[in-house]
Amino acid sequence: GLAERLQATLKKLRGKGKVTEADVKEAMREVRLALLEADVNFKVVKDFVNRVKERAVDQEVMKSLTPGQQVIKVVNDELTQLMGGSQSKLAQSHRPPTVVMMVGLQGAGKTTTTAKLARYLQKQNHHPMLVACDVYRPAAIKQLQVLGEQLNVPVFAKGENDRPVSIAQEAVTKAKEEHCDYVLIDTAGRLHVDEELMSELADMREAVSPDEILLVVDAMTGQDAVNVAERFHRELELSGVVLTKLDGDTRGGAALSVKAVTGCPIKFVGMGEKVDALEPFHPDRMAGRILGMGDVLTLIEKAQANVDAERAAELEKKIRQQQFTFDDFLEQLEQVRNMGPLDEVLGMLPGMNKIKGFKNLQVDENQLARVEAIVLSMTPEEKAHPEIINASRRRRIARGSGTQVQDVNRLLKQFNDMKKMMKQFTNMTKGGKRRRGGF
Ligand code: GDP
Ligand code: MG
Repeated sequence: GLAERLQATLKKLRGKGKVTEADVKEAMREVRLALLEADVNFKVVKDFVNRVKERAVDQEVMKSLTPGQQVIKVVNDELTQLMGGSQSKLAQSHRPPTVVMMVGLQGAGKTTTTAKLARYLQKQNHHPMLVACDVYRPAAIKQLQVLGEQLNVPVFAKGENDRPVSIAQEAVTKAKEEHCDYVLIDTAGRLHVDEELMSELADMREAVSPDEILLVVDAMTGQDAVNVAERFHRELELSGVVLTKLDGDTRGGAALSVKAVTGCPIKFVGMGEKVDALEPFHPDRMAGRILGMGDVLTLIEKAQANVDAERAAELEKKIRQQQFTFDDFLEQLEQVRNMGPLDEVLGMLPGMNKIKGFKNLQVDENQLARVEAIVLSMTPEEKAHPEIINASRRRRIARGSGTQVQDVNRLLKQFNDMKKMMKQFTNMTKGGKRRRGGF
């Protein structure tokens, strides 16, 4: 993949105490090939390589004590710039509701992403409403309704004979009445960009004046994703792009080209099919990921979004005072689950994906259910003071939870280990913000 090729190329430079212009040229030739192979737009590659070369052969870089690393920093900076520089956030209207139109071709992931976005907003204490404007496929309305139910988010839908434009208008009125502060409109897509689709979307835009028009594109389609983005942008003036299926076998070209070609920032990326698999797009972190520096910041942010700060402080105090109980443990378990599959979370740690056997390190859901059953079989006193759990209590708990005494023993040991781990964890989330910007 792109990451491996760039890493291999830059590794040759990293340790060099002296870097010549020829070294830089040689490295850039390989960078250029790696980018082209990753399906990055040809012109984007050319500009990118020229900028890096110009900056890299600069006297300051060449004469610095660590020229190799300086060159890598230039590549990192330029990659970050290429993807928009800084994070581009979702709009928030000062006169709610904020109206967001989701557009894109059929199968790009619009409906899924609309639901994911609702989930994302919910976590930040917003009250989104979903609007089903894909009336051409009855299944599409149902799909959104199911997702809405799952998330406990209201879904505004009408019959198949209503016009999408009036549905969108009515939904905005309804959202005001119901004090929803975000209106997320799922629209219809086609297999190809066509006039009819565009004019319907333009009419809708006219009718509801959205604060945000997000184009949902499939990263797997590579350069096509970029072409689609160009077309939609020309017709609708997009405010941002959501790149889906970045978890798949994509070569990454779309992520690197979209902003440079269209001028539209990528605001979110889809990393899976589940409603939690949406991440704000951070150009600097993406660059870091490509260059193999792991994604510690995203990890910390995930942790932070899921651990309520106040609760975390409370837990930290408990841990410090050795008062961490099994009730806290259950709650913690739930939060770890909310962070997403544990293998995915661990995968963001630097170097983790290079560890052999990492793929086998998947968390067994049955195991978690067993743990839950054991804890629920404890008395309140046992949960609060695990040290009183002697042999006969262990036997009782095992019977009550339908597990073996060994399972109970293992959990008690894990609980103690977790106490220790939690201590490190709270330290990490606390220190997280300060690590920003480190190269
Ligand atoms: P729409 O036609 O644009 O509304 O597309 P859908 O939301 O119905 O999604 C089409 C398919 O893509 C579904 O099977 C989704 O589960 C899948 N999908 C959407 N986003 C992602 C993603 O980020 N990763 C993966 N792996 N699949 C996705
Ligand atoms: Mg759909």
